[in-house]
Amino acid sequence: MIPSAYSPEEARGLWVFLEQEAGRLEGVALELLGKGRELAQARGVPLTGLLLGQGVEPAAREAIAHGADDVVVADDPLLAVYTTDAYASVAAQVILDRKPETLLLGATPNGRDLAGRLAVRLRTGLTADCTGLAWEEGTGLLLGEVSGFGGGVMASIKCARHRPQMATVRPGIFPPPSADPDRAGRMEFVPVSLDAAKIRTEILERVRHEGVDITRAKVLVAGGRGVKGDFAPLTEIARLLGGEVGASRVACDLGWIGRDRQIGQTGFVTRPKVALVCGISGATQFTVGVKDAGLIIAINSDPEASIFEEADLCVVDDLFPVLEALIAELRGAA
Ligand SMILES: Cc1cc2nc3c(=O)[nH]c(=O)nc-3n(C[C@H](O)[C@H](O)[C@H](O)COP(=O)(O)OP(=O)(O)OC[C@H]3O[C@@H](n4cnc5c(N)ncnc54)[C@H](O)[C@@H]3O)c2cc1C
Repeated sequence: MIPSAYSPEEARGLWVFLEQEAGRLEGVALELLGKGRELAQARGVPLTGLLLGQGVEPAAREAIAHGADDVVVADDPLLAVYTTDAYASVAAQVILDRKPETLLLGATPNGRDLAGRLAVRLRTGLTADCTGLAWEEGTGLLLGEVSGFGGGVMASIKCARHRPQMATVRPGIFPPPSADPDRAGRMEFVPVSLDAAKIRTEILERVRHEGVDITRAKVLVAGGRGVKGDFAPLTEIARLLGGEVGASRVACDLGWIGRDRQIGQTGFVTRPKVALVCGISGATQFTVGVKDAGLIIAINSDPEASIFEEADLCVVDDLFPVLEALIAELRGAA
């Protein structure tokens, strides 16, 4: 077995990679600070944020307000935008120096990219795309919950001998903590030595995705194969309730709706206050993306549909007349 860069005996503390965009922490970084706070407290270890960027001091303060005990900051013009070479090089240097026991990152495009590169450099294991985190009783090892084998099995993965124990976590899984601007914490700026010639990518243009973000919807009206391509009533209900329309993968695969609305394992994990799930059978790969909704209302003509096992309110009926009646009711109330 290849030994890790440092041993479990040398390793200390729980770290969260604080992904930021133009100096503002990404939502998943805040979510990880919330969960990280809970995990750090349970083990009696400090929670440290690792922040890379340029001009990111306000983001470090934001992290402390959201639960970090200290923030290690690498501030340099070459870190102004994410590149694999620069971020992996600086993060690896800091980690080898400080030897955290656990490192959590968001499973965003950049977080996934960085995590893979770091795991190889640090010669450690990485549990990718977790939907749950916990300490194992007895050993205190990090358990990362992932849905595996095509989503049919929930697996609990641990990294027994290598450090840091690394995990990426899907955005939207954990609730973001509330901020306490008076919270005290320590900020430490580390020296950065980067050779611009060794950064092999150049960012020519950055295009911000202006589409819908279903992970922020308070009300989600989701449709699957059962809507038979007709999303009009779902769109109208979403409009009347100030929500968004979501979909199962089948509905996206059939081209009935954009991929940016797909809920589930290969789509988005959402936690709306209310999810109205219409004509969706309830495969695990779908429900993993909606199971943390405050209230799930399912409409399905099949009384045996597995979505009813997750739903708080079950409507066994043809979805179209039910939605029509709901629209009339909501319009009357408006
Ligand atoms: C690796 C992998 C990843 C996947 N990732 C995802 C993912 O991220 N998201 C996802 O959604 N799926 C995902 N899937 C696919 C998933 O397994 C299911 O196939 C999919 O969720 C089924 O979509 P559906 O419920 O719309 O369709 P179906 O399973 O065909 O269900 C349609 C439902 O509509 C009901 N219905 C039909 N007509 C009506 C009517 N008039 N009124 C009321 N009810 C009606 C039926 O009773 C049925 O329950 C993944 C699969 C794999 C293997």
